[in-house]
Amino acid sequence: MELWQEMLRQSVDSSKDLVERFGFDTATAEKLNSFFHIRINPYYLSLIRYPGDPIWRQCIPDSIELKDDNAQEDPLNEDADSPVPSITHRYPDRALFLITSQCSMYCRFCTRKRKVSDSTKINAKYIQRGLEYIGSHSEIRDVIVSGGDPLMVTDYALEKVLAGLREIPHVEIIRIGTKIPCVLPQRVTPKLCRILKKYHPIYINTHFNHPWECTPEAERACNMLADAGIPVGNQSVLLKGVNDNAEVMLQLHRKMLKMRVRPYYIYQADLTKGTNHFRTPVRVGLDIMDKLRGHTSGLAIPYYVIDAPGGGGKIPLLPQYVLGRNGKEIILRNYKYEIYTYPDVEEAAVKQHPVERRYMRKHQNSRRKYVAARNSADDSEEKVLVEQVVK
Ligand SMILES: *Cc1c(COP(=O)(O)O)cnc(C)c1O
Ligand code: SF4
Repeated sequence: MELWQEMLRQSVDSSKDLVERFGFDTATAEKLNSFFHIRINPYYLSLIRYPGDPIWRQCIPDSIELKDDNAQEDPLNEDADSPVPSITHRYPDRALFLITSQCSMYCRFCTRKRKVSDSTKINAKYIQRGLEYIGSHSEIRDVIVSGGDPLMVTDYALEKVLAGLREIPHVEIIRIGTKIPCVLPQRVTPKLCRILKKYHPIYINTHFNHPWECTPEAERACNMLADAGIPVGNQSVLLKGVNDNAEVMLQLHRKMLKMRVRPYYIYQADLTKGTNHFRTPVRVGLDIMDKLRGHTSGLAIPYYVIDAPGGGGKIPLLPQYVLGRNGKEIILRNYKYEIYTYPDVEEAAVKQHPVERRYMRKHQNSRRKYVAARNSADDSEEKVLVEQVVK
C-alpha cells in the first residue's frame, strides 16, 4: 500500500470519530454524517490551528448545515444536462466526466454533495458508458475528468480512463479537476506524473481556498505536476469565515503563483442545501477582485464567476471600471479610483443584443435615478463625478 492510501485509512471517517475527537453529541454527529459523509485525512487535519479556523470550517461539519431547509440539492440543475450517469454535458464543446464518488476530504460546502461520496450515483461501472457517450459526440473536444476527486482512484484505474479518452480522436484536451494537491499532496507521486505525461495535452485545475493550505508538501506536489508539463490552475470558492477577505485572498493568490499554480476562477458560493452559512454577499467578491487587480501581478487575477442558478452556466462579474459615457468619451476609473477618459472610436450604429435592448427599455428609468443621485449627492466632488456619468 502506498503512503497516501495508508493515510486515507487513518482518516476521521465516522460519526464516532466526531463524538470522540470533536465533542459532538451522538445524534447530531450521526445526522451530519448521513447528510454528507465526513472524511478528513490526517494531512488535512494537521493543518487546523484552532477550532473554527479557516481549515476547520471547510472540513468539520456544523449542526447549522441541518437547518438549511429551503435550499436545493442540485441548484445548478446538473442532472438535467446528464445524458448518462457519469456525464454532465452543458456547454457545446466540453463535458464533465465523473469517474469516482470519493474524495480524500469532504468539503462541507461541496456543491455536488447530492452525488459525492455516494457510490450508487457515481461509480466506476458508469465509466464505460461515459466513454461511449463522449466517443459518439464529436463536438466534445475538452473533457473535464472530475468526481469526487479523480485522483482518488488507483494509478491503474486512472490510466484506463485516460487511455480510453485518448482513443477518441476528437478529444483534444483532457482536464483533471482535483483537490489532491491541496488536501492530500502525498498522492502526487513520480509514478502518477509518469502516467499523466503519456496523455498530454493534460491540464489540471486544483482547489486551494486559503493561504494555510499552501504548505511545503503542497508546493512539492504542484511543482511535480508542473515539471511533468501540466499547466496547473486553481478554482477557489468564496466562503464566509474562510476567505471572504481581500487580504487573505491576496496572500493566497500570491502564494499560488509561487507554487506555479495559475489562479483561474473564484466561485460565488452556490445555493446548495446545507451550505447557506458559507454564502457571502456578491459585493464581497467584487471588493476582493477590486483589491487584486492592479495591486498584484495580473497573473494572480482569476475570474470571479457566479454559476447561474438553474443551469445557466458560469457568468463572470467585474467591479465597475466603466463609469459611463460622455458623448464619444468613455469614462473609466483605475485601480486607485482615479478617473480617466478615453476617446472611443465612433461607430456608425451600435447594435445592441435584442435581449439587452428589451431589458434596457423596460428599465429606462435608471437614467432618472442617476439624475436623482446627482441632485442628492452631498459633497461637490461626488456631484461632479455623477455629472460626468450622467451627461
Ligand atoms: C465549469 C464547467 C465546465 C468548464 O467550464 P470552463 O469555463 O471551460 O472551465 C464544463 N461543464 C460544466 C457543467 C461546468 O460546470
Ligand atoms: S473535493 Fe470537490 S468534489 Fe470533493 S467534497 Fe470537495 S468540493 Fe466536493
